[in-house]
Amino acid sequence: MCQGLLKYYDRRKRKALNGRGEQEVYSLRRLRCCSCKRLHLELPWFLIPYKRYRLEVIEEVIAGRAEQAPVEERTRQKIKAWYRQIKTHFLGVWRFCITHGFASPKLSPILTTYVRATVNSGFWPTHPLGRHIWKKNPL
Ligand SMILES: [Zn+2]
Repeated sequence: MCQGLLKYYDRRKRKALNGRGEQEVYSLRRLRCCSCKRLHLELPWFLIPYKRYRLEVIEEVIAGRAEQAPVEERTRQKIKAWYRQIKTHFLGVWRFCITHGFASPKLSPILTTYVRATVNSGFWPTHPLGRHIWKKNPL
């Protein structure tokens, strides 16, 4: 992250499924960094990069409380497996943020805190071919 000033660039549509399994469409702002010219998608708190379901739904699935969507057990298992894998990465990013004074050690992070911290610090694992790169580059 280069800490450059971000300016409005355009809007992009992003879809996600809610707890009833309905598709919602959002219009998200894309911001452009004035120094490195990279584009950043402004993610609202309820979205997780690359995830088809809203954050609250993912939280419910992880906690084993999801009442409606996702109905398929396979999807629920996949979400749980994703969380088991990424949790270590989240904790690493969180420790990094505390060490560098970006986060308070007094805070008890919840899923949205981890997602924000990881996206904002530029440590979100990108997996263009479905690979989990964070396993190869542990913090
Ligand atoms: Zn930049």
